[in-house]
Amino acid sequence: MITPTELASLPLLSNVPPEELERLSLVAADVSLGPGEYAANEGDERALFIVIAGKIEVTKRVDGIERVIGARAPGQVFGEIPIVFGVPFQGAFRAIEPSRVLRLEARPFHALAAAVPEVLTELARQARDRIGGLQGLAAKPAEVRAVIVGHRWDKAGHDLRRFLERNQITFDWLSPDSPELSARWNGPPPVELPALQCQGGATLIQPTTRAVAQRLGLQTGALQADYDTVIVGGGPAGLAAAVYGASEGLRVLVIESEAPGGQAGTSSRIENYLGFPTGVSGDELAQRALLQARRLGAEIVVTRSVVGIDPVARAVLLDGGESLPTKTIVIAAGVSWRRLSSEGFDRLLGKGVYYGASRTDAGLAQGRDVHLIGAGNSAGQAAKFFANHARTVTLVVRGDSLEKSMSHYLIEQLRGKSNIAVALQSEVNAVHGDTSVTAIDILDRTSGTVRRTDSGGVFVFIGADAETAWLPEAIARDTHGYVLTGEAVVRANRWSGDRDPYLLETSVHGIFACGDVRSSPVKRVAAAVGEGSMAIAFIHQYLQHVAASGRA
Ligand SMILES: Cc1cc2nc3c(=O)[nH]c(=O)nc-3n(C[C@H](O)[C@H](O)[C@H](O)COP(=O)(O)OP(=O)(O)OC[C@H]3O[C@@H](n4cnc5c(N)ncnc54)[C@H](O)[C@@H]3O)c2cc1C
Repeated sequence: MITPTELASLPLLSNVPPEELERLSLVAADVSLGPGEYAANEGDERALFIVIAGKIEVTKRVDGIERVIGARAPGQVFGEIPIVFGVPFQGAFRAIEPSRVLRLEARPFHALAAAVPEVLTELARQARDRIGGLQGLAAKPAEVRAVIVGHRWDKAGHDLRRFLERNQITFDWLSPDSPELSARWNGPPPVELPALQCQGGATLIQPTTRAVAQRLGLQTGALQADYDTVIVGGGPAGLAAAVYGASEGLRVLVIESEAPGGQAGTSSRIENYLGFPTGVSGDELAQRALLQARRLGAEIVVTRSVVGIDPVARAVLLDGGESLPTKTIVIAAGVSWRRLSSEGFDRLLGKGVYYGASRTDAGLAQGRDVHLIGAGNSAGQAAKFFANHARTVTLVVRGDSLEKSMSHYLIEQLRGKSNIAVALQSEVNAVHGDTSVTAIDILDRTSGTVRRTDSGGVFVFIGADAETAWLPEAIARDTHGYVLTGEAVVRANRWSGDRDPYLLETSVHGIFACGDVRSSPVKRVAAAVGEGSMAIAFIHQYLQHVAASGRA
């Protein structure tokens, strides 16, 4: 407990009357921190801190990289901007030596400010000064970590850009004829494209995403020899399992073939996820979850695919031939976009034909007339998002109404946008263009007529399938490839053993499945997150059972 005498020695409180200091000493928290421990994390609820002893450094993550942006010594405060303006912490505060800080929650702070208004006046002054200092940081352009040179309509270049965006790596993209090229590219201009130059000079020609990830310092391999649980897939289900697993002391590894976030990472706005009253973009949700999982100690490997599971040796097989021993496995591999096989779709993939869309794809639609195929919520959200960038957005829908497949609130929002049109009972049955999509054929299903119309891009949202052919036969699936768990495994006569399977356990003991890849009618972010966290609870039960009985 911080004594009134100690409180009186702090500059902010030096003029506070003794009776208020008495009151304060009863409510203020006395927080001891070891080196590396956080007093507050980015995004934390507002509170006021005063350093009593030690030293605290201020850090902020920019483009996934932590930057130290300041420090606080004894007598100095932090949290003045959150407490004065009622916003969450915009940076993190970490002890760099054994430290002691006072923490005052918002309510007692406001009681103090009501009794001694000078405290608020002084704190508001400090908050204003601090914002002045932060202006310099805001004006500083984000550090560009890579320059890509590539043609606009080259699929490899598009894939590279999406990969970097989804991994929150800031880059500049230049076309080979850009006048800026000579100034931005070290050495002779690249001939084979796409080419990438990292900050610091390393150049990669037509690189794989893994080569880029390695060069840019993303984790692409396991750091430990074995794990308590290996999670296949870094979508909402996998990241939730990672957060719960790591926070409960398990040694956790997530293997993600592309970028963390999964399908949710490609959603421009998720409006129905609890706790985000105005919605949250998929990439923001993914970024927050990733930070949380890493902070709690989970390892997250990107650009690696799990190509098999050895159910007997209990190991996960990675592309490249590595085998990773683990006590348990969580399959959170989600689903993949269903592809269209109509004329031109494969040839123009990445050149005006895209499956799904994320916020960072806005540039692909900028000022254009684009077409979206699909009638579900994902198509509706994308239409709403692209309407702010494209000249026109046309939703091409096979059915005779949107009501059957899209949420009412979304249909209402689409109606409110003047540049969104809906073509019902229609199908895109061909896309045309030499280097990129320039036109499409739309079939009117009622009359059977086909009309050709100009198009600046086609985004496809026609549903998704579980791609589980890589799983061993021992892991039972339904006729569509979704993984059976719990009671469904028993019903399919695929369970053996002297105990019942846990709710999310597959037909192989100790291997669990959660999220969209699981055979279940619910395909939602909240369900995936819930199941990811539940899988960890079952893993604990399973490990206890094995320890007690000596049997899986
Ligand atoms: C555009 C769009 C908008 C959406 N909007 C909403 C919404 O508003 N509200 C809502 O509740 N839901 C929404 N959804 C659905 C929601 O995103 C999914 O239900 C959720 O993402 C499922 O999470 P998951 O972790 O099970 O799977 P996924 O998100 O599919 O993630 C699976 C991950 O596993 C990886 N993976 C797959 N196989 C392997 C392998 N062999 N090795 C390594 N990694 C692998 C994939 O790359 C992927 O990152 C939307 C979906 C889309 C596509």
